[in-house]
Amino acid sequence: MQMNMEFERKLTIPMDVKKMYPLDKSLRETVADRDEQLKAIFRNEDDRLILVIGPCSADNEDSVIDYITRLRRVQDAVADRVFIIPRIYTNKPRTTGSGYKGMLHQPDPNQKPDMFKGIVAIRSMHLRALRETGFSCADEMLYPENHRYLDDILAYVAIGARSVENQQHRLVSSGVDVPVGMKNPTGGDLSVMMNSITAAQHGHTFLYRGWEVHSKGNPYTHAILRGYMNKHGESLPNYHYEDIMHLLRLYSEGVFSYPSCIIDTNHSNSNKQYLEQPRIVKEVLAFRRYNDDIRQLVKGFMIESYIEDGCQQLGDGVYGKSITDPCLGWEKTERLIMEIAELS
Ligand code: PEP
Ligand code: MN
Repeated sequence: MQMNMEFERKLTIPMDVKKMYPLDKSLRETVADRDEQLKAIFRNEDDRLILVIGPCSADNEDSVIDYITRLRRVQDAVADRVFIIPRIYTNKPRTTGSGYKGMLHQPDPNQKPDMFKGIVAIRSMHLRALRETGFSCADEMLYPENHRYLDDILAYVAIGARSVENQQHRLVSSGVDVPVGMKNPTGGDLSVMMNSITAAQHGHTFLYRGWEVHSKGNPYTHAILRGYMNKHGESLPNYHYEDIMHLLRLYSEGVFSYPSCIIDTNHSNSNKQYLEQPRIVKEVLAFRRYNDDIRQLVKGFMIESYIEDGCQQLGDGVYGKSITDPCLGWEKTERLIMEIAELS
């Protein structure tokens, strides 16, 4: 019996899409320079705080670029204390499979999926951000086989809570050359996340895009605490002092390169009460000031932020307002980043 799906068309391979939408020498140098700065932070050679910040989903190129252009001005003002990596999230996991799957699937959220247009749209948007603002950005590696369409542009890769237990995500992460954040799974079992970090920090031989490949292992793979759901479907946080001490213990029980953690301030940590994000950041900054081990472990935050506060339904059409998780609006975001620079 053959598979029950229609093979519509063969898509252009990453090497050819990169030739169509290339990085010139100066953009390649910007990416390499930022990669080196970020890795130095993970190696504890630079004590700036990392902020992976931006909308839950990058649904519209113009409003995303507008947002990132605003971030550029703030970045310049806090350059000695904070290293900003904008979120340009082009692939969205959906809990039940329905709803907006991100720009890769739907370059226009109101139109039907078109995978080739999607590939071009996500590469063009990441390229435009780099060219116009000097930021290489973060994305979620939801589909590991698509990573090569963006691997020369991304500064940071996250493995989502629904993917972190998956073998292919772990193996491909072991061959990614930028820091990869492994989120705790939605059920909160930190051993799943720690096993994922272990797997990705080591080299593997595996099958990738029709090739037999060998990875070297990625020493910059680290933890992201995003809160979790209990068996009653209630969101519970895991950014508190005791949670972070627990993570320190788990790191000390194994052999890891550069034990590190990013605190995701939204999702189950805020129970999507997005206005709580500034408070959560400030609590964790207080733990860092109180305990030097936490200061070294917690390298920064992942914050969901956009131009407008909150979120809207797909089709409502408010410029700069999230169509997935609710986000902190621009004025509050700017104020928060300035405060982070003072408190870090
Ligand atoms: C996200 O970062 O928007 C996201 C989907 O996160 P998680 O995998 O933690 O749910
Ligand atoms: Mn989100």
